[in-house]
Amino acid sequence: MSARVRALLLQYFGQSLLLCPIYFASALLALQLTRFNGGVAIVWPAGAVLFSALAAMPHRRWAMALLLCFPAGALAIALRGFGGAYTLPLTLAGLFEAWLAASLLRHLSPRFTRFESIRDVVSFLLVAGVIAPAASAFIGAWAAHGATGIPFFNAWRDWFGAHALSLVTFAPPIFLVLRRRRLDAAKFRRERLGEALVLMGAVSLATLATFGQNRIPLVVVPLVPMVAATFRLGRIGAVASLLVLICGGLIGTMTGHGPTMLLHLDMPTKLLVLQIYFACVVLILLPVAAELESRRRLMQNLRDAEALHRLIVERTGDVIMRVNLDGTLRSVSEEGARLWGYQAEELVGRSAYDLVHPEDEQAVFDARFQALCEPEGTVAVECRVMRKDGGSTWVESHMCATLDPRGVPNGTVSIIRDNSARRRLIENLAHEANTDPLTGLGNRRAFDRAMARDRKAGGSGCLALFDLDHFKRINDVYGHATGDRILTMFATLLCGTVRAGDVVARLGGEEFGVLLRDVSLEQAGLICERVRTRLAESEGRSILGEVVRVTVSVGLTPLNADMPPEEAFRQADAALYRAKGAGRNQMAIAA
Ligand code: GH3
Ligand code: MG
Ligand code: MG
Repeated sequence: MSARVRALLLQYFGQSLLLCPIYFASALLALQLTRFNGGVAIVWPAGAVLFSALAAMPHRRWAMALLLCFPAGALAIALRGFGGAYTLPLTLAGLFEAWLAASLLRHLSPRFTRFESIRDVVSFLLVAGVIAPAASAFIGAWAAHGATGIPFFNAWRDWFGAHALSLVTFAPPIFLVLRRRRLDAAKFRRERLGEALVLMGAVSLATLATFGQNRIPLVVVPLVPMVAATFRLGRIGAVASLLVLICGGLIGTMTGHGPTMLLHLDMPTKLLVLQIYFACVVLILLPVAAELESRRRLMQNLRDAEALHRLIVERTGDVIMRVNLDGTLRSVSEEGARLWGYQAEELVGRSAYDLVHPEDEQAVFDARFQALCEPEGTVAVECRVMRKDGGSTWVESHMCATLDPRGVPNGTVSIIRDNSARRRLIENLAHEANTDPLTGLGNRRAFDRAMARDRKAGGSGCLALFDLDHFKRINDVYGHATGDRILTMFATLLCGTVRAGDVVARLGGEEFGVLLRDVSLEQAGLICERVRTRLAESEGRSILGEVVRVTVSVGLTPLNADMPPEEAFRQADAALYRAKGAGRNQMAIAA
């Protein structure tokens, strides 16, 4: 047999091949021992075996498992059940019941975690304790009624009771055994072995005391060590003690011992009563074990989260800040507070807004409002924090809401990072983007913006364009470096002559623009003339120390809010052109 075929066989038959004899044995044993007066079996662990196996295996293997259990069930029923024509429908009823329970469980609890949550327990009880046995009981009752003549409803009730109780009683231990790798056993430490042995010994003794005699009904006695085992050992404790109780109880009852012997009832009814008792114990222990398990995991998650939190708070260079709903500081990380010159204790209880630069308060308020309104999201805000020394530091704060036990926001937690270096970089970039590197004046871009801003604000004034005369010649005669000197000299002269509120820019080459704010054309003309004459009267120096004289021509135009900047430039340029044409070193006003 090739390795591939063998692997395939193992994959598809592995579990199912083992399942088949177990299903057969449990069915045969139940039919042999728990059928009374020709009726249906009162205990039916085979259903629990198949149901648990289906729930534990991948869906694609179900068909193979059902197919293999079919002959096993049929053989058991043919040998010890009603047999004859009823063999086929009864076999199918058993398979259908397990399939229905497993399918419904997949839908109700898609991530069935073997009783780690109350949802698991409820879903399980609904499908295994009610729906699946109620449905299969119709086929079983029809067969029992046909075979023995007992009334249909009585047969339905017997089947339903037997199968529901058997599924609820036997399936949980089998579930957990099938999932042994994920079971707590793996985490079971050696040092707890002694405790486990003592507890299991106590469960065995209590079971023996209850089912080893038939004088005193000690039915609640086993519950004491069983609950203790569940609390101390978790699900594995619950399962192990259930197995001890069920095995001991069944053996005792079948051999004529135990509390059911005190009841003046026939054997089938005694077995039903016993199963009701088992089911009750399962119903007590399973939710307790589930709740304990989910709390244990919750505590573990909490411990993990706490460790991570401690590490973050201690090691991060960021400030971690918790703020109450009313804006008062609940806590500030020690290291963080020190960065701003404070002690953490002196900040706690103060308003967080005391730390925010007044201009940024609104932005921080809005960000906090958004974080509280959308508790599942994170909000980022840039603001300035007021340091204790009175200065401010740019920071970037990421915040989210903290929730109270009802899930209602009760404040915010922020991670705050010093952002000043990035902020400086941005400011430098913005400055460079708007500045002429040679003269330090604003560039064309900055000038255009100023023009647009003034126009939007409805400001009036004049636009003057200055162009140095025959500048090419200066470069040619004295060299480019001298040309640069002259440009810088003119920039200084220009700034020193116009008023403080005016905007001066180097528009390109040897051309400069001045936005003369809130002046009449006449006043602007005087200012421009002053610039022109001052330049004409001043002496520049070449890099070799020679005297360099230079003049400038000016084009001036009045501005008004209706005139687009391009039109103003066009008019000023035309005036400048006229000034050049008229001999340079003069001013022309737009017509
Ligand atoms: P006009 O009187 O008609 O304005 O003559 P002009 O020579 O000044 O005019 P033109 O536009 O022909 O020449 C401008 C010169 O300015 C050309 C270029 O070499 C010079 N220039 C432009 N930018 C710079 C600069 O950054 N540094 C220096 N040194 N020269 C510059
Ligand atoms: Mg020019
Ligand atoms: Mg020029």
